[in-house]
Amino acid sequence: MKLQGKIALITGASRGIGRGIAEVFAEEGADVAVNYVASGEAAEQVAGWVRSQGRRAVAAHADVADRAQVEAMFERVWKELGPADILVNNAGIETIVPFLELTDEQWTRLTDVNLRGEWLCSQVFCRRVVAEGRKAVIVNVGSVQAGKVLPGRTHYAPTKLGLEALTRNMSAEMTPLGIRVNCIHPGLFDTDMTAWVMKRPDLLPGILAQISMGRPGEPRECGTVAAFLASDEASYVTGQSFYVDGGWVGK
Ligand code: NAP
Repeated sequence: MKLQGKIALITGASRGIGRGIAEVFAEEGADVAVNYVASGEAAEQVAGWVRSQGRRAVAAHADVADRAQVEAMFERVWKELGPADILVNNAGIETIVPFLELTDEQWTRLTDVNLRGEWLCSQVFCRRVVAEGRKAVIVNVGSVQAGKVLPGRTHYAPTKLGLEALTRNMSAEMTPLGIRVNCIHPGLFDTDMTAWVMKRPDLLPGILAQISMGRPGEPRECGTVAAFLASDEASYVTGQSFYVDGGWVGK
């Protein structure tokens, strides 16, 4: 098992890709803190599933864009599970709004969660790890839209491309202190975020035709890549961003 004895905090792990990552991490031997913002019951279910694999788990509430809530979440995880070795910054939101109609509020909320949230959780995590003199790993979750234009995403896409720069720059400062930082860019995954696409027979075949694999990904297919990056098998990998997209950007 790649993550035996490790403790991981995964943001947005109550559903979708975050849940897939939590499941793979538990199977690989990690204890898991399951962050959520609204779906407490779903987060408890994921925590219960992790425990059913013989690992420890806690459902941990925090809006990743709120410093006080993030600080309180880390404090609770440290108390209940112990100092975390791995942070996966997965929590994110997507809205689709034409550029000319986008409001200040829509821009601010989305960039706050998707970009500032990953920066904020990373900073709180790294301050603790550095003060404790430990080693650790961060995996950021971006999007295929870092490298691909889709309509109505002038707010979303920059947050995801921005994560590549955040990853590189955090890596440059943190790797010498013992914290590797990498990023994965999911393509089309079947989750609540994309449920509307899956129900559109007029849209879906055209999108799948652009993907070399010809199908959407399963959340666990992000989990296995995140587990590799979080493990010692990736001990010489830092500052990188990887597309996990079945061959979409590359086609
Ligand atoms: P999802 O099914 O909508 O789930 C989103 C998760 O993020 C939920 O656990 C949600 O918690 C959590 N979350 C949202 N806002 C939060 C906040 N402010 N603080 C803490 N948690 C928050 O989304 P997904 O498809 O799994 O996407 C996960 C990540 O992958 C996102 O960063 C997304 O941008 C990225 N991504 C997804 C796809 C795709 O095809 N699905 C493609 C590319 C990139 P609650 O359940 O409590 O609301």
